[in-house]
Amino acid sequence: MRLKGIPVSPGISVGNAQIVLVQETPVIRLSIPEESLEAEVARMRAALEATIRDVEALKEQARGKLSEDFLSIFDAHVIILKDPSLFNNAAAHIRNERVNAEYAFQGSIQDMVKGLMATDDAYFQERATDLEDLRRRTIEHLAGTGAEERKWSGENLVLLADTLTPSETGAMHHAPIVGFATERGARTSHTAIIARSLEIPAVVGVKGLMGAATSEGSVIVDGLSGVVILDPTEEEIAEYRLRAEAYKEQRRQILSHARAEARTIDGHRILVLANVDLTDEVKSAIEVGANGVGLYRSEFLFLDCSPDLPSEDQHLAYYNRIAEPFFPHRVVIRTLDLGGEKYFHSVLDKSERNPVLGVRAVRFCLLHPEVFKTQFRGLLRASAKKNVAILIPLITNLEELKQSLVLLEECKAELRAKKVPFDEHVPVGIMVEVPSTALTSEAFAPLVDFFSIGTNDLIQYLLAIDRNNDSVAHLYDPMHPAVLKCLAAVGEAAAKAGKPVAVCGEVAADTRMTPLLIGMGVTALSMTPSSILDVKARVRNLSLKACQKLAKKALQCHSGPEVGELVDAFIEKGDKAL
Ligand code: PEP
Ligand code: MG
Repeated sequence: MRLKGIPVSPGISVGNAQIVLVQETPVIRLSIPEESLEAEVARMRAALEATIRDVEALKEQARGKLSEDFLSIFDAHVIILKDPSLFNNAAAHIRNERVNAEYAFQGSIQDMVKGLMATDDAYFQERATDLEDLRRRTIEHLAGTGAEERKWSGENLVLLADTLTPSETGAMHHAPIVGFATERGARTSHTAIIARSLEIPAVVGVKGLMGAATSEGSVIVDGLSGVVILDPTEEEIAEYRLRAEAYKEQRRQILSHARAEARTIDGHRILVLANVDLTDEVKSAIEVGANGVGLYRSEFLFLDCSPDLPSEDQHLAYYNRIAEPFFPHRVVIRTLDLGGEKYFHSVLDKSERNPVLGVRAVRFCLLHPEVFKTQFRGLLRASAKKNVAILIPLITNLEELKQSLVLLEECKAELRAKKVPFDEHVPVGIMVEVPSTALTSEAFAPLVDFFSIGTNDLIQYLLAIDRNNDSVAHLYDPMHPAVLKCLAAVGEAAAKAGKPVAVCGEVAADTRMTPLLIGMGVTALSMTPSSILDVKARVRNLSLKACQKLAKKALQCHSGPEVGELVDAFIEKGDKAL
């Protein structure tokens, strides 16, 4: 049986199916007499502490065997478990409703899960899976069963699961596991992080997987196309073994060029940068030869510190963790882009009816100058070694940019007065992700050091499609002529002013888009580290001249599919297709 999901870790594996089932301890509501309420609260505290010990033990077991990306998930769990608001909420539940600890704790966690799921953001939804994991463990401790660690046995295992939580994977690194497939999950899911960390193929979001899977027979996981084949035929097994070998050979070839620059045939250099959402992605970005970081989304720092706001020192420490390992390469750190679908923080006004068009990103920061200035001071201090650049999101008009620059200058003056070192010429760029800014980019060019095009939002706002709504996902089209016109306008404005222009939305990782972007004048592409090698390889097969010709021709097309046909012919036949 052939199923389809989202490929998250490349490669192909053929192995023995192993279903991973979740054991749930049932939770019932019990009334607790007044005099026993404090004992119930104490029972909950003890269970939480036991879960913290479990998580710390899991981390120790995995140390040295799994990457820092993975280990940091455990740190994040400990932070969640130690968060006083979790304990206080659940304790208030016990005391006010006079209920048992299991019921109260489950309710509190479910409230947090609901908040995260409401963000419509895959990253935050994935953090909801973490909470589920912690909930299950704590409930097991409360029930007195204790959380049993999973043991794997057998050969050449391909795990099939609804979702894999970090604790279920505690013993995975010394097990003979060659692939994963899960029914739930997204690119940022733990399954994806673990699989990439162990370098084994994985597919997530496979609808219907758990209904169809059995723990017998073979399974094929194609982490390149997202295909999962349950109980494959002999022919399919033979075919996929060949494909797996071909892929490994191709990787060997590409990896041998990882360090080399991405230059077109005619010598034009394109910077290939990493989007780093978790500081732990730094290592993989460096391994694949990223020329720096093109986008660090600082809302992740705010999420880590939530419900508090990060202090200036926390900003500094966080940015140093990214900037230092990349030195002397540049690291672009984006100021807070809270609001919109990133709706997790209590400082936001939850009554907005249309938050994606509301007080988001720089709009929020200008309304809360102290939040903005604290971040600016942290950023400036991190810039002392001169490899940090500041990126301001969702700029819609010149006034917003000017006001932001005034606040930045105030922060510089404050640090100067205290003799705190920073980069006086720290580069400042803007995200071009609102169509109005793309079309008027030449007005911004003299005031900025660089542009970074956020195609995720640009396409959302330009084509009027909610980027998180599956029902309109088919309308997402980076080759839509209107998108191309915006890209060309920014490319032209940047070239005229002699300023670099990057793309840091998902489009940067789309190798079909690479020739168009280069042809439009894009000078840097920033993407998830796992796409860097492929994009570098694509750049090396192109010529700037031909890309410019292609871009010109594409700008005359009337529809996305028409552009698509032109690009595919170009990729196959080069400029003979033009
Ligand atoms: C974008 O909009 O393309 C972008 C990179 O920013 P984010 O995805 O964080 O909104
Ligand atoms: Mg954006």
